[in-house]
Amino acid sequence: MSSDSYHFNWLAADAYLFDIDGTLLNTRDGVHYYAFLHALKDHFGIDASLEGVPVHGNTDVGILRAVVRRAGVSDTAFEEKLPLLIQQMSDEVESKQAEIRADLCPAIPELLQSLHTKGKLLGIVTGNFERIAWAKLTASGLKQYFSFGSFSDVNERRSDIFENSLQAVRDKLGPKSKAYVVGDTPADIAAAREIGIPIISVATGIYPRTDLAALSPDLSVECCSDLLALSRRSLSREPCWPEL
Ligand SMILES: [Mg+2]
Repeated sequence: MSSDSYHFNWLAADAYLFDIDGTLLNTRDGVHYYAFLHALKDHFGIDASLEGVPVHGNTDVGILRAVVRRAGVSDTAFEEKLPLLIQQMSDEVESKQAEIRADLCPAIPELLQSLHTKGKLLGIVTGNFERIAWAKLTASGLKQYFSFGSFSDVNERRSDIFENSLQAVRDKLGPKSKAYVVGDTPADIAAAREIGIPIISVATGIYPRTDLAALSPDLSVECCSDLLALSRRSLSREPCWPEL
């Protein structure tokens, strides 16, 4: 846990906005990945892989745009077909929801239940398309905790996704309500900084805590077990991942 742990009251927000991939869960199926490939093949004839395209912290629109640009497709042609791409990918992932295999990140159910019990508003901020996000959350048993979200169907930039969700919080709870983001990538930290919203970084995605802490999030923890430990004013905790 970082030395800033005791100087940031992580329970002071009215609402918590959670990223999905690498923060709430990690999927170990190819359902979302193959939906990208099938849509790119069907609408642009591109036999693509996502090799070389940054996916962690990116948005679904941003990933698609990067692949089609690399193949020489104009932004205009891409944007004309984007609604069809969203529909096809969302249909495919929903139809294969039973194949989604998601590992929940440590302490996520306990953390969400704890925040819910405290009366906190819980929302989603993700680069996934909306129906894909809800399919992952439904498959992993987490959907019940979230009453709203902000997705990449209409907002390509992560900061716009966050801004949209912050506005939803303020519409629900009032203009002075406070929200924190919980995310696992440098892109989450940058987007939160851009709109002036505090961010808690968790190292349950691909980025080590030392890399995330170097970017000065408001709080940096290994995993959400640490947040629960902080709320108990205890630094002793179970390890984030069981010993292999
Ligand atoms: Mg993530």
